[in-house]
Amino acid sequence: MDSTVTTPRNVERVIQGQATSDGAGVRMTRLLAQDLQRRLDPFLMLDLFGTDNPGDYIGGFPDHPHRGFETVTYMLQGRMRHRDSVGNNGLLVPGSVQWMTAGRGVIHSEMPEQEEGAMEGFQLWLNLPGRDKMCEPWYRDIAAAEVPEWQGEGVVARVIAGASHGVQGAVQREATAPLYLDLHLQPGATFAQPLPAAHNAFVVVYRGELAVGDTGVRTRRMAILANSPGSDGIVLRAGPEGARAILVAGQPLKEPIAQYGPFVMNTNQEIFQAVEDFNAGRMA
Ligand code: FE
Repeated sequence: MDSTVTTPRNVERVIQGQATSDGAGVRMTRLLAQDLQRRLDPFLMLDLFGTDNPGDYIGGFPDHPHRGFETVTYMLQGRMRHRDSVGNNGLLVPGSVQWMTAGRGVIHSEMPEQEEGAMEGFQLWLNLPGRDKMCEPWYRDIAAAEVPEWQGEGVVARVIAGASHGVQGAVQREATAPLYLDLHLQPGATFAQPLPAAHNAFVVVYRGELAVGDTGVRTRRMAILANSPGSDGIVLRAGPEGARAILVAGQPLKEPIAQYGPFVMNTNQEIFQAVEDFNAGRMA
């Protein structure tokens, strides 16, 4: 399998993110907010939570609904318990992934299962095409050992979704073709990933520093990668201390986005319906 990249993309913009709190007072950095939903279609939101202070996470995310998209939670440190109205119950531990397709509706809670220590990870929202927004909910816990990996020179790549260097990831999606990699790079190591120019892509560094072309990207920053016509992929180079980062990419849906909090549909009418269905108890 050929993983050569000859015309890599450059960084279009580096995003610092907004400090925010969600659920019952969980503090986090929102790197992908509503203003970037069109630019980063099919991705709707990305939160990075990372703290040693229990006061920042102990409240967790009590029962709340979702409709119309998928949530992907990737834990780096800490333990979080998931329970939902479909009867799923799972424990997220370091290195594990929870992939939940809310479809027509799920009510769930995500609560810390620890009273001290670090809690760190990402939650990504991936849109569903209009034809799938009302599908049956789907859920999968992917244990750390079940996330496929490959190792190269100074590189470990964990393939959560999509495919990288011939390794198929844990999850595939046809409409949005998501790529979700967790990259562990030794000092100075280089990583290349072929990618269609039309797919929207971003990198978030969570340890150390890396460079994309001649743009440096520091810890807790998100770099949006330009969709340069004629480009054939992405090349990253770790800084002198090495780097850990996620690389996320996907095929844009190019559909209207109507959002009201945890409901993401195509039209306002569908949003009114979602609120009505939730209030009438039709999402449980
Ligand atoms: Fe949720």
